[in-house]
Amino acid sequence: MSIPARTPGRLSEFVAGLPKAELHVHHVGSASQRIVQELAERHPGTVPSDPDELRKFYEFRDFAHFIEVYLAVVDLLKEPEDIRLLTYEVARDLARQKVRYAELTCTPYTSVLPHEARRGMPIEAYTDAIEEARVAAERDFGVVLRWIYDIPGESGVPAADETLLFALEYPPSALVGFGLGGPEIGVPRPQFQRHFDAARAAGLRSVPHAGETTGPETVWDAIRLLGAERIGHGTTAAQDPVLLEYLAEHRIPLEVCPTSNVATRAVDSLDAHPLRTFRDAGVVVSINSDDPPMFDTDLNTEYEVAADMLDLDERGVADLAVAAVDASFATEHLKSELRAEIDAWTSAFLAERAD
Ligand SMILES: [Zn+2]
Repeated sequence: MSIPARTPGRLSEFVAGLPKAELHVHHVGSASQRIVQELAERHPGTVPSDPDELRKFYEFRDFAHFIEVYLAVVDLLKEPEDIRLLTYEVARDLARQKVRYAELTCTPYTSVLPHEARRGMPIEAYTDAIEEARVAAERDFGVVLRWIYDIPGESGVPAADETLLFALEYPPSALVGFGLGGPEIGVPRPQFQRHFDAARAAGLRSVPHAGETTGPETVWDAIRLLGAERIGHGTTAAQDPVLLEYLAEHRIPLEVCPTSNVATRAVDSLDAHPLRTFRDAGVVVSINSDDPPMFDTDLNTEYEVAADMLDLDERGVADLAVAAVDASFATEHLKSELRAEIDAWTSAFLAERAD
């Protein structure tokens, strides 16, 4: 009995049916063209609702255009119903890829503006909208959603103050983590230390982005100042052997998003991506999609990309899926359920194709 050599079609089929956990994916950044079209029809004006025009607008060109698309989608999220629709439809897209559990990074600051700004929706309405969508999505699609509230770093301390307030005073029941995103250059990390201290004291897990566009010192900052329990990207950690050793020893996972790293020029190409270095150094990694439709990818594609980069067969890919479950903030009960589902799918797939 022998297992045929790995072929792309076969691996795609395996990945497509593999139960997965997604740990690094942005709420607004997950808005597919289908969802944006629906939002654009509700709010005509800035974004084309015509499918062909929208496809052209959505096509990834460069980082500046990605930001333009992202902000255009933020602008379409005017009413609580828009937030509910986005969340529910993102969950549908995740479930289609056999994602069973996702920690969705939400940036309430961009939709819930400070009261004095006299625009944006109240935080209570935002919270109700994501929670309503979460409960419906779990019931309708079987995908479990949890939230990470993230500080848009470019908006500095005022955004951090507001995001912390939202997390502590108006927490949605499925909030598990506190994050920090946006640019790293010119956004020093120490200014956010007290926000992370307070969030952690309230039981939230620390998951800042770090080492995506600046060097390994930002990853050290994330660990030492922000108490990071996982690192978003951490790409430049590969430049620092002491850091790699630290991450491996303390089992601090890196949330790796290969296609995003190429799209944003964090790395020059997939060939230059340090995923293999991380693996060889014994660093725990999860595979993730970041802002999938805006980078023309999805989680299944990222798993295939990772399989290719690490030269993995089905069992190796299943191990990646288990690593993401282990690195998640799901309950122990759900984790063991997900591990069993991964194992069942893998065994059945391999048994069926063994002869
Ligand atoms: Zn991200």
